[in-house]
Amino acid sequence: MEKFDIVIAGGGPVGSVLVHALAPLTGRSTGDGLSVLQVRAGSTAADRPIALSHGSRLILERLGLWQGLPATPIHHIQVSQRGGFGRTVITAADHGIDALGHVVSYRELVERTTTDHLPAIAVREDRLLDWNASPEGIEARLATKSVHTRLLVIADGGRSGHGGEESPETRIKDYRQSAVVCEVDTKPSHGNRAWERFTLDGPVALLPYRDRYALVWTSPPANAERLMGMDDTAFIASLQQAFGDRAGQFRAAGPRSAFPLSLRVHDQEARAGIVTIGNASQTLHPVAGQGLNLGLRDAWELAEACIRALDETPEDLGSAAFARAFASRRRLDRELIVRLTDGLIGAFSLRLPLSSTIRGAALAFLDTVPPARRFLSRRMIFGARALP
Ligand SMILES: Cc1cc2nc3c(=O)[nH]c(=O)nc-3n(C[C@H](O)[C@H](O)[C@H](O)COP(=O)(O)OP(=O)(O)OC[C@H]3O[C@@H](n4cnc5c(N)ncnc54)[C@H](O)[C@@H]3O)c2cc1C
Repeated sequence: MEKFDIVIAGGGPVGSVLVHALAPLTGRSTGDGLSVLQVRAGSTAADRPIALSHGSRLILERLGLWQGLPATPIHHIQVSQRGGFGRTVITAADHGIDALGHVVSYRELVERTTTDHLPAIAVREDRLLDWNASPEGIEARLATKSVHTRLLVIADGGRSGHGGEESPETRIKDYRQSAVVCEVDTKPSHGNRAWERFTLDGPVALLPYRDRYALVWTSPPANAERLMGMDDTAFIASLQQAFGDRAGQFRAAGPRSAFPLSLRVHDQEARAGIVTIGNASQTLHPVAGQGLNLGLRDAWELAEACIRALDETPEDLGSAAFARAFASRRRLDRELIVRLTDGLIGAFSLRLPLSSTIRGAALAFLDTVPPARRFLSRRMIFGARALP
């Protein structure tokens, strides 16, 4: 059976960024260094615009993956609630950076992070089906053959069910919301401003994307289905009514897709030789655009942990202690972002008396107390530890 030090299952942005971060440690062709196999099942995911924070940009820049990626900068984000007072504006200038984040195409990001040209990495178009753990390591069963590895990294977006729905260690919450995603034209154009507008049915986000806005409109599934079935004129009119005219007049909409939304957090006890990252580890509500950003920090920190293990105790890579240390290092960032996104959805859908007033007061507080606003937004840009 072929043997590798690390097998990474998943060719999405998180798995591929991990491969790039590990590339300097590999030496498959020379026989020294780590041997790494990436298993890619091929993506069937619809293309969609995706917001990358400034922190994610720094990760991609350090790996030489940012240059050449078409990206639309976000200079301001305005947060407000429908049917209540209060709003706050977060600006790049608050943080002394040129942009809070950038909006890119998921497909272009996958293409930009491809690992095809990395000579020391073995890449296989295949699918991880299952694995067996033994004291000698992990036998990863792929659709076409089995391989042996010390460390199996699951970065499959959570689709293959490893530790998924059927696992008692997985926290699952159905938000009973779906996101309708499409591009929309407005007059005037976006001016690099993003909007997050909370409604009792779910948040509506507009992200500047090329010369249009990318719309992420969350609402109960029946309403999302209704929105999907509308012709463009009726859809634009509904959007104008739901969003008001603060972003201008909506003119035209591109093709729509819909995504059911749930929270899935994989809390399994750390097991020797197995690590999960990205959506395979946690799938979030898209509010505030945090999922991929959190996943890229998972990948970056896992690569750092591998580098440390190789420098200090290379035999540790496949140990339970390694998996435990990584899980514990990621816990704070992960829990903060899970609670923040889940808490926002909970707080802004409360229909109790005074809840709108309390939300409005919180938004007004953030608007008038810049250090509080900076504290919160810094965590959304850089993660819980707010490290650049
Ligand atoms: C509507 C919507 C809007 C969003 N907007 C944002 C945003 O603005 N900002 C943000 O940060 N996040 C956003 N997200 C979340 C973001 O899309 C995900 O967090 C991100 O795609 C996760 O990346 P990943 O590489 O972990 O998984 P994926 O992107 O799902 O990639 C996983 C890959 O693994 C492959 N695979 C599957 N099974 C196997 C297998 N068994 N073996 C091998 N390979 C396999 C798949 O084919 C796929 O290529 C949004 C999500 C939604 C639904």
